[in-house]
Amino acid sequence: MKAISGFRYKDLGPDGGPFDQFENPKVVIHTTQGSSISGAESAFRNYPPHAIYDPRNRARVQYVSLDRHSYALRNSEAEDDFVIQFEIVGFAESTHKWPDEYYRNFAADVIVPMEQALAVPRRHMRFYGADEGIVLASRHSPVRLSNAAWRAYSGWLGHQHSPNPDEHWDPGRFLMDKAFSFVPGKTPKKEDPIMFLVRERDKPEVWIGDYVQRRWVATQAEVKHLEARFGATSIIDPGTAIVFGEETAESKARRTGTGGPL
Ligand SMILES: [Zn+2]
Repeated sequence: MKAISGFRYKDLGPDGGPFDQFENPKVVIHTTQGSSISGAESAFRNYPPHAIYDPRNRARVQYVSLDRHSYALRNSEAEDDFVIQFEIVGFAESTHKWPDEYYRNFAADVIVPMEQALAVPRRHMRFYGADEGIVLASRHSPVRLSNAAWRAYSGWLGHQHSPNPDEHWDPGRFLMDKAFSFVPGKTPKKEDPIMFLVRERDKPEVWIGDYVQRRWVATQAEVKHLEARFGATSIIDPGTAIVFGEETAESKARRTGTGGPL
């Protein structure tokens, strides 16, 4: 039993078995869509996550050892990558409205022990909310990672990022930067912007940055490059250098933000 420091262990239900690899540790955040640990336990008894945490009263329970995978995602391929699943008591609709205290508690009780136990890097995917013009609760949500990008990612992400055919959107616009700001010790480096390929319109587009700061119609070379590397609908891992073949002054200008908006 590989325990999370500060968590009480409870044998609630099955674990999924051994991981098929121990590279790229990542933590997936879920919200329970309810307001108590006991209510959540009866809902997920047959497929418990690794642990549950209540940021209001700091209650914490672990169900699955950190060296076994759990079952709370739809996509079994995504599940046995090295991913630790946390259910957080609360609603995806309102995580961005939480008082600072909840995020301070989450930092002390979840981030710190997970960094200590598995060296999960202090970086995260952008978490999206319901009112940002993107259909998140769909297997075709553009914020989902491909299986390959999921496997390659290491850090903190949400159920909303898990690969097709998953269609959940929890934990909403979880304020991970705020949570990180409460972790004592060194400040994390500023994330590179996330870049992704979107195919929802008549022409494929490249989107970049938090809140989609910039976007443009993808060139054939960009589409080819992104698909070859990350799959048909992709988010490019923050920190990954993107060079579309021979980078031209024009593509560099777009990528670095001096290019024109779409
Ligand atoms: Zn979930």
